[in-house]
Amino acid sequence: MRMQSGIGTKGIAALMINTTFLPSRASALDRLTGFVPAAGRLYAGGRNTDAGPGHPGAVSKLSPYLRHRLITEHEVVAGVLARHDLAEAEKFVQEVLWRTYWKGWLEMRPFVWHRFVEQRDSQREAFKDDRALLDAERGLTGIEGFDDWARELMQTGYLHNHARMWFASIWIFTLRLPWALGADFFLRHLVDADAASNTLSWRWVAGLQTVGKTYLATADNIARYTNGRFAPRGLATEAVALTEAAIGPACALQDLLPRDPAQPSLLLLTHEDMNPESVFPPSTGFRSVIIASDPAWLWGDCARQFVDAASSELALRACSHFNCPAGVIHRLDAATLIASAKATGVKQIITPFAPVGPVADALARLVPVLAQEGITLVAVRRAWDSTFWPHAKKGFFAFKERMPDLLREQGLA
Ligand SMILES: Cc1cc2nc3c(=O)[nH]c(=O)nc-3n(C[C@H](O)[C@H](O)[C@H](O)COP(=O)(O)OP(=O)(O)OC[C@H]3O[C@@H](n4cnc5c(N)ncnc54)[C@H](O)[C@@H]3O)c2cc1C
Repeated sequence: MRMQSGIGTKGIAALMINTTFLPSRASALDRLTGFVPAAGRLYAGGRNTDAGPGHPGAVSKLSPYLRHRLITEHEVVAGVLARHDLAEAEKFVQEVLWRTYWKGWLEMRPFVWHRFVEQRDSQREAFKDDRALLDAERGLTGIEGFDDWARELMQTGYLHNHARMWFASIWIFTLRLPWALGADFFLRHLVDADAASNTLSWRWVAGLQTVGKTYLATADNIARYTNGRFAPRGLATEAVALTEAAIGPACALQDLLPRDPAQPSLLLLTHEDMNPESVFPPSTGFRSVIIASDPAWLWGDCARQFVDAASSELALRACSHFNCPAGVIHRLDAATLIASAKATGVKQIITPFAPVGPVADALARLVPVLAQEGITLVAVRRAWDSTFWPHAKKGFFAFKERMPDLLREQGLA
């Protein structure tokens, strides 16, 4: 384990594929500060336009920071509402809540994620040498816009929301490729790659999420919202919803073990929540902090590099906030955790709750092994998630209706 290892701003920049997303909390806060003045009418009026890479746009580009919780939804909404009233910033706040909604929705239907993983794996095999798939992934289809977005995604790790929608729609309805392989392509290249937002957005475009309701990309809409950069020909003129076996009702949110504040403990952090300072005060008394930056939990190099550099920066923050040793490991296994727990004399490991995805699966596998050594792994869910997630049982409209009340519950609005 690298203890208190840190890298300066220069090091962080050098580690990045591009400099759009510097992997640190300070960069997240700077980006929020820079965006806040435009979070009202400017955002609402301009958010649908994708001016192209390198051109200023109306959107915040906060997604990699929110996804890894270098900055939290609460902080972002609080920052925006300190400058604008809710009516003015409603559109932006709603978009942040789409993320919260997708996370809550999937948390109560984890089998949708596991079904996606199975489909992706079997289709990857079936389409191993498929020419159409290879062309789509390399941006060689000849479809204007689509090819540019494929390349932009691979070069920058980011696509505008509208481009993601057009791309997914063309992938599914024009190229007739399996949606799960498109979702996989995004996961392998997005720096904000997220099990919930990505899988459920692809399902939404395909007509699986809101059953029967699809998203059809049209040349007119693309030309209008790319400032005339693209007007692809030959796009599908209808989008017939895909179908699947019924997915069953939502389950309850997972019950969490209570944390024993009297017990000495160790803090385990992952890329699912890189902002422990806002959950645990310095007085929590952790004996040590382990930051697991395991490349197996991420799908692509862009996200891996981002998380790896952010983990080093997190080690410095955690060490100073909790006044204890903090280090990064690159493979999380039970043996490492047990050895660390023994070395620091703790029987309790605390970790911020990991939502549905590879980290949650890995932690679930560790629990029984740790238990054999008398060590408990206690997950702590943020108040934001506990407040909003239970309301993600139905569609976004019903969720959105609760937004003002739930924001008030969070001390906002
Ligand atoms: C097919 C498809 C795949 C997607 N995959 C991902 C993904 O893997 N990870 C991811 O974070 N987002 C994903 N999104 C949602 C959305 O495209 C991005 O969050 C957004 O483009 C990020 O840019 P921004 O930060 O400038 O957004 P802004 O417009 O500035 O919005 C602010 C924040 O709100 C959240 N947000 C905005 N729109 C959405 C949305 N439609 N769904 C969920 N959250 C939203 C994001 O956290 C975002 O940072 C996907 C959308 C589609 C259509």
